[in-house]
Amino acid sequence: MTANELRTKYLEFFKSKGHTIIPSASLIPENDPTVLFTTAGMHPLVPFLMGQKHPAGQRLTDAQKCIRTTDIDEVGDANHHTFFEMLGNWSLGDYFKKEAIEWSWEFLTSPEYLGLHKNHLAVSVFAGDNDAPFDEEAFNIWKGIFRKNSLPVERIAKLPKKNNWWGLATGGPCGPDTEMFYWVGPEKAPASFNDDNHLWVEIWNDVFMQFNQQDGKLEPLAQKNVDTGMGLERALAVVNGLDDNYKTELFWPIIEKIEELAGKKYNASPETTRAMRIMADHIKAAIFMLAENLKPSNTERGYVLRRLIRRAVRYGKQLGINGVFTFKLIEPTLGIYKEVYSELTNNKDFIEEQLVREEEKFGKTLEKGLKELKRLIEAALAVSTRKGFVPPPAAGPSSMGLAGQGRLLGREVFDLFSTFGFPMEMTKEIAAERGLEIDEDGFWREFKNHQEISKAGSEQKFKGGLADTSEQTVKYHTAAHLMLAALRQVLGDHVFQKGSNITAERLRFDFSHPEKMSSEQVKQVEDLVNEQIQKDLPVVCEEMSLEEAKAKNAMGVFEQKYGKRVKVYTVGDPERVFSSEICGGPHIERTGQLGRFKIQKEESSSAGVRRIKAILE
Ligand code: ATP
Ligand code: MG
Repeated sequence: MTANELRTKYLEFFKSKGHTIIPSASLIPENDPTVLFTTAGMHPLVPFLMGQKHPAGQRLTDAQKCIRTTDIDEVGDANHHTFFEMLGNWSLGDYFKKEAIEWSWEFLTSPEYLGLHKNHLAVSVFAGDNDAPFDEEAFNIWKGIFRKNSLPVERIAKLPKKNNWWGLATGGPCGPDTEMFYWVGPEKAPASFNDDNHLWVEIWNDVFMQFNQQDGKLEPLAQKNVDTGMGLERALAVVNGLDDNYKTELFWPIIEKIEELAGKKYNASPETTRAMRIMADHIKAAIFMLAENLKPSNTERGYVLRRLIRRAVRYGKQLGINGVFTFKLIEPTLGIYKEVYSELTNNKDFIEEQLVREEEKFGKTLEKGLKELKRLIEAALAVSTRKGFVPPPAAGPSSMGLAGQGRLLGREVFDLFSTFGFPMEMTKEIAAERGLEIDEDGFWREFKNHQEISKAGSEQKFKGGLADTSEQTVKYHTAAHLMLAALRQVLGDHVFQKGSNITAERLRFDFSHPEKMSSEQVKQVEDLVNEQIQKDLPVVCEEMSLEEAKAKNAMGVFEQKYGKRVKVYTVGDPERVFSSEICGGPHIERTGQLGRFKIQKEESSSAGVRRIKAILE
């Protein structure tokens, strides 16, 4: 099945169920200043989900262009992209769970539509907790369908809020959802669904907005809505029996071009595959952004675009591609979308001009910058080695656990940015490949200092996205302290930090713990952190000797990197200290500034080490 066929089938199917087909909205949200890009099909429809009347009626369907910068770390796997299309159908106060679920099932399995193997499908529903009830209605509808098709009921998983709940941090409409997964493993699908197994790929999510949350209480919502989203790239892969979205026609022509340019095969090695996926993903996303007239810059959306292009260029160089090349990926990308998104073809000249300009600008300094970065890394590693740190033998994300033993200084990272145009995130990634962290806080300090000295013109240029980003990373930094303290309270004193990685969008945190956390433990940690936030506690910084800090039971994660005098950040009243850590800072002043803390994922990182991804809403 081709992508165009799939997209059309979806829209026609829902049209046959009384839906009006509406066009994709722009990638740049029209009325929402809080986010940079449209992240889901429901995003442009929020006012109508909140009760405003939609001119096209109560049943809508579309294919929406989306950009998710929050998934950038995932890109490189088989099914997370920066740019993707979301197929969706909506009921604005019209039909509800029964129709939504039965139509999802019909579309997925009917031979007229996707005709997927029923035996490879599993679903999840909301299990219920203290605040909200088990979604028995959805469960029973699925049970009926599974029984009728002689499928094991164990394939209907009951999962907590973390997996199966949708709502806004500010309260308002919310409700349970039900997700559909497809088994892409080589062997028979297991009897039951397992959230940890990546071979169960999430393809579709039906959200049921049925409650209104006010002052923590749930009331039934006057207008009940259905909001669904299915990733086109993932659906296309599974329909065609592929376990890799990049092997579908939505990516393969771009990959083939990269193979040709690099003189290497896509599956030459896992590193090659990952590099080619990232390049194809980033340049496709960049092309869609350029098609909406964005330009690379150092602020907000333009900075995201710049990062994507530069990161792709760097991976290209790593694969041995010479000369300016990203523009050579325009032709295959346009070929893929020519019948659907005319804005690409219409803006071809602008896209080409901008890609070439950005790549040339960066290409001039890339090699020198890489050389300089290499020198800095060697120097940092040499210092660490003298202190007894053994650098990892090979580059790669597996060296993550060793990060923090050596570090690039904030000033060095800033120089790479200002002199060679290296986005901070890129320097961080390259350093991590050698097991080195960078001093991100130091980078932001330099960045701010630089802003102060510079004249209005360049100030203008740097303001906006990056400055905001810095505040957000500081918040995440404080949240990490609270979380470590909470983890130790809930799980025990064996918990130590093993590494952390903070961006403006999320916090990733590795810690020692031998087993998967239960959903109650996850909830307890979230609650403890949110309790400290609600108390609006001061975050106090004191300087003292390392011995004093130890005597005060301050947590010190990587002691060897500290001098004799250390800073200790403490949260809580003097009698009841919640968290106390040796740390370079910076931190926010009061916990009340953090917003709501939420754990998105808890998973294994390496033997004896767990990884949490968390966000502040
Ligand atoms: P995952 O847990 O796999 O990241 P999600 O829970 O973030 O998925 P939703 O926000 O529910 O996904 O989005 C609805 C659908 O959109 C998903 O079922 C999936 O098919 C698709 N989707 C979500 N994120 C991506 C992405 N980064 N790339 C491609 N498809 C995506
Ligand atoms: Mg996701």
